[in-house]
Amino acid sequence: MDGGCGCGQIRYAIAASQPPVVYACHCTDCQTQSGSAFALQMPVFEAMLSTTGQLVSGERTLPSGAVGTIYACAKCLVRIYSKNSTRKGMLTIRAGTLDNSKKLVPKFHLWVRSKQPWIAIPKGALALDGQPASTEEWMRLLTE
Ligand SMILES: [Zn+2]
Ligand SMILES: [Zn+2]
Repeated sequence: MDGGCGCGQIRYAIAASQPPVVYACHCTDCQTQSGSAFALQMPVFEAMLSTTGQLVSGERTLPSGAVGTIYACAKCLVRIYSKNSTRKGMLTIRAGTLDNSKKLVPKFHLWVRSKQPWIAIPKGALALDGQPASTEEWMRLLTE
């Protein structure tokens, strides 16, 4: 799977035998970060990602107390992925930067209680009011 920024300076590839899970996060933090209604997230292992081009990063403390680092194209500032200090070895791709993003279907929706009211969650979609309660629940959502 390939993707990149808006200006073409950053290109990346994800090496995976099957497409990683994508989810939609409707938390207010993702709304602020993306400047949009929700974020389309794709967690992958760091080792699966290779990038070309120059990235810049910015850090901030998340509501949970963890440190979040965002990596963006140094030229056009499109955000490519983020890291969380409590999830070593993982990173979260901004799935809208994938070349074939139109084929992505979120496997689940998080923080539905803070979603923008005009967004209708598709019938039958797995939707959580907040976020998974434990690491085990996270892993179950991402792997099953
Ligand atoms: Zn760019
Ligand atoms: Zn979020």
